Amino acid sequence: MAGTPGPGPRIVAIGECMLELQGQPFGTLQQGYGGDTLNTAVYLARCGARHGLRVDYATALGDDGLSTGLLQRWQAEGIATGLVRRLPGKLPGLYLIEVDAHGERRFHYWREQAAARAYFDTAEGDTPLEQQANSIDALYLSGISLAILPPAGRARLAALAQRLRARGAAVVFDNNYRPRLWADAATAQAAFSTFTALASTVLATLDDEQLLWGDPATPEGAANALARTLALPCGEVVVKRGAAPTLVRLQGQAPVEVPTVTVPKVVDTTAAGDSFAGAYLATRLAGGSATAAAAAGNQLASIVVQHRGAVIPPEAMPR
Ligand code: ADP
Repeated sequence: MAGTPGPGPRIVAIGECMLELQGQPFGTLQQGYGGDTLNTAVYLARCGARHGLRVDYATALGDDGLSTGLLQRWQAEGIATGLVRRLPGKLPGLYLIEVDAHGERRFHYWREQAAARAYFDTAEGDTPLEQQANSIDALYLSGISLAILPPAGRARLAALAQRLRARGAAVVFDNNYRPRLWADAATAQAAFSTFTALASTVLATLDDEQLLWGDPATPEGAANALARTLALPCGEVVVKRGAAPTLVRLQGQAPVEVPTVTVPKVVDTTAAGDSFAGAYLATRLAGGSATAAAAAGNQLASIVVQHRGAVIPPEAMPR
């Protein structure tokens, strides 16, 4: 049922969803939308529906028709939108996928002024997210959620995460690292360190960890990044490594390998990690073990990489 809160736990994903245009320059452009945390919210809602999971997306939009159109589409996916702020005069961010004659794609972004960046641009405690913090069981955010916020917004999000952890709620950090969204690597490293220390669960892509800390793209660089990730202080660490087995490390235990699903042909890896996160967290919030959750994540992601685009048709979801 669209946008109807389920009776189960409540998870909030926070971040930015942008408008998407795709096609040939001055040709016909197709309109869509996307963003890492929104993709995860869609997969959370789909995977968690049978357990009554309530999924919220927290972001800011404008008061324009495109923003209204986004809200309606999220609601149709079963995502609750009561934590979305509408900021008069602001607009959602936009990206354009330029497709050339050979089908190669280039991404262009207009997101510096996007409404989502201003989510916390109001007095402390004034956002619906802060006001409803006591009813939230889990908060999901990514390195991109951090990158788009100004330093003051990042500090507010850290304070909220701390508050949630203090009352036993989960804080899940996904290490999506996009260098061009950051002023420099040191700023990103500081923000990622703050949130990996605050998180109860870290979902890490090994490639992003290597890129963030400047580990060489060699087997030795990957081994360094892996050792550092597994040593993070949080109770639950999941390391995604493309087609290589996923590693799950719980507090005080040795890491466990969870195999990925072999696929005949990878079509598009967009949202592989986002879908993994959706299936993983839906399983965990329904009481499943971390290894069962990683298996569910690998299964869904293996389907997603065989489809073009971020969000697969509902009928392609695993049963
Ligand atoms: P991200 O999308 O976060 O960069 P990865 O590339 O590590 O992360 O992929 C996330 C998940 O997608 C993996 O853990 C795995 O489940 C799945 N996946 C990615 N590539 C493949 C592949 N070639 N074959 C099967 N599964 C894959």
